[in-house]
Amino acid sequence: MPELPEVETMVRDLADRVVDARISGFDLFWPRTLALADVDSARSAIVGLRISAVNRRGKFALFELECGQATLGLHRGMTGSIFFRAVDDPPDRFVRAVIALEDGFELRFDDARKFGRIFLRSSNASSPRLPWLLLGPEPLDRNFTHTVLASRLHGRTGAIKPALLNQAIVAGLGNIYTDEALFRARIHPARPAGSLTPEETKRLVRSIRHVLKSSIEARGTTFSSYRDINGRTGSNRDRLQVFQRTGSACMRCRTEISRIVLGGRSTHFCPACQPLEPLASN
Ligand SMILES: [Zn+2]
Repeated sequence: MPELPEVETMVRDLADRVVDARISGFDLFWPRTLALADVDSARSAIVGLRISAVNRRGKFALFELECGQATLGLHRGMTGSIFFRAVDDPPDRFVRAVIALEDGFELRFDDARKFGRIFLRSSNASSPRLPWLLLGPEPLDRNFTHTVLASRLHGRTGAIKPALLNQAIVAGLGNIYTDEALFRARIHPARPAGSLTPEETKRLVRSIRHVLKSSIEARGTTFSSYRDINGRTGSNRDRLQVFQRTGSACMRCRTEISRIVLGGRSTHFCPACQPLEPLASN
């Protein structure tokens, strides 16, 4: 599932290609891909508008149209990718929506498992509660400090791993980068979220930033379906320390990586590097 680095990679690539392009059409091939709107009203709201910016918030890509007149928000779900293609390029396999551009190119939203969604915020329609407005802080934002994270985890008795997956606590993290960040911070994923020491919270914030930045540098992690806007894979998989390495040797201490299930999600960690009791210091 695409997480913050995979969406960030897509948004940066898109910004290079589509900023200043004008939208000339919108087609939908799977009705539920467009959430909270119907295709005709979406089409009439966006056709003719210029894309003034492409931004990211959490795992959402946000196309700003005519400097804020409307916003198209896209969530990639499990398998969604946007491909930047010329209109006469060969078809892609699982295209659910197409945003046509005036200059002979188009954005194809390709999504095998159909969990991806497109949302529209438009000034001439009553906007529903848009999901990116409910997100917690951006982990790569300078304001995301250990004090901010500590206050959001304060009093929580549930495990730290599902707390980090909660997009209202911190935006953009999914299964891969929570496991990687907790390993790097040497925190057991089942530790009660509110029990982290200030030292651990500092390590965790540094680790979250490190794993995200390192993956953005590698253009994201590809397991099966993630592709960039040109259909290419990311190379961050080679940098993963624990995620889906169950039974392999820990790269730090050679102990076998364990797998448990937390909050319904596969969780990978090193039982030696990440003990259930907090480490005295690092
Ligand atoms: Zn280890």
